[in-house]
Amino acid sequence: MSAPNKSYDPVEVEALKPEEIERRRDEALAAIAEAADLDALREVKVAHTGDRSPLALANREIGALPPHAKADAGKRVGQARGAVSQALKARQEVLESERDERVLVEEAVDVTLPYDRVPRGARHPLTTLSERIEDVFVAMGYEVAEGPEVEAEWFNFDALNIWADHPARTMQDTFFVEGDKPAGTGPEESGVVLRTHTSPVQIRSLLDREPPVYVICPGRVYRSDELDATHTPVFNQVELLAVDEGLTMADLKGTLDHMVQSLFGEDITTRLRPNYFPFTEPSAEMDMVCYVCRGESVGNPDRPCRTCGSEGWIELGGCGMVNPRVLTACGVDPEKYSGFAFGFGIERMLMFRHNVEDMRDIVEGDVRFTLPFGMEI
Ligand SMILES: [Zn+2]
Repeated sequence: MSAPNKSYDPVEVEALKPEEIERRRDEALAAIAEAADLDALREVKVAHTGDRSPLALANREIGALPPHAKADAGKRVGQARGAVSQALKARQEVLESERDERVLVEEAVDVTLPYDRVPRGARHPLTTLSERIEDVFVAMGYEVAEGPEVEAEWFNFDALNIWADHPARTMQDTFFVEGDKPAGTGPEESGVVLRTHTSPVQIRSLLDREPPVYVICPGRVYRSDELDATHTPVFNQVELLAVDEGLTMADLKGTLDHMVQSLFGEDITTRLRPNYFPFTEPSAEMDMVCYVCRGESVGNPDRPCRTCGSEGWIELGGCGMVNPRVLTACGVDPEKYSGFAFGFGIERMLMFRHNVEDMRDIVEGDVRFTLPFGMEI
């Protein structure tokens, strides 16, 4: 084995020559200065300070030097590596602060944007149409009356001449409020329902007031229907009730004519078709002349009318003279007073008045449906 090479001089080792170390250091410093972003700087760092970088390799050569040469070479390499490391750190700070400033600019919230300009919605057409109808009747001296939506069966059925075994109880698909009776005895035992019509408000109005009574009762009612294009389990009704001395069907007809003329045009008339309701006697279905074709589509295939199905008439709702039994149930003398009542669904009127084809559009609350009605006040 040969003795250590005493004459081994770092100057003779290519990688440890002072000018070579300076060149490697300057290369590294130049690359650092040129790194345009943090990703580029990361690559420069690996290339110039990593295990395989020229200065790291040079550092390894020091171990093989004779003791007297180690200090000098170590100092030179150490200084070069220190300079590179400092430059890296400085460049890193500069690039990080540049990135932070860029993020601040790019992701800034423009606080000069107006804070008070929120998109305007619109009142729901059910509300505006309901108010329009109320206005027609308020102008005739009627009073707007409201009542509870969770209602005693007595108000919803019994007082309206719909007895417990009356078929109308099952005709209207009623939501019964669950009672505290033992399971299996039927939830209807609670005696409380979600009102199936606004007629209980008429009963409450008659009980609260001395005749003459002129009220219009708008409000939500409930039937256990599935939501589809023509049904909804929650819908809105308007009912009117007039109880006074000497009221006849002629007064009812005149009132209905005035209503449809106020809502649909001056030449619109109504007709009554016999029907049956427990709470009125006699009872009728009320139709109005189609306000679109004025009946001209009937028997005229060249001019079909979508609104009335070329029938010339639009069915609006049920009406009649208040059944004397209802008056008696409310403590009103049927010998002295008579009355008339009329009720209809607001959704249905909204559908044919504005060509709304799907009931779901009315109830789903999409602002795109409501907005076009926004001008209606
Ligand atoms: Zn028509």
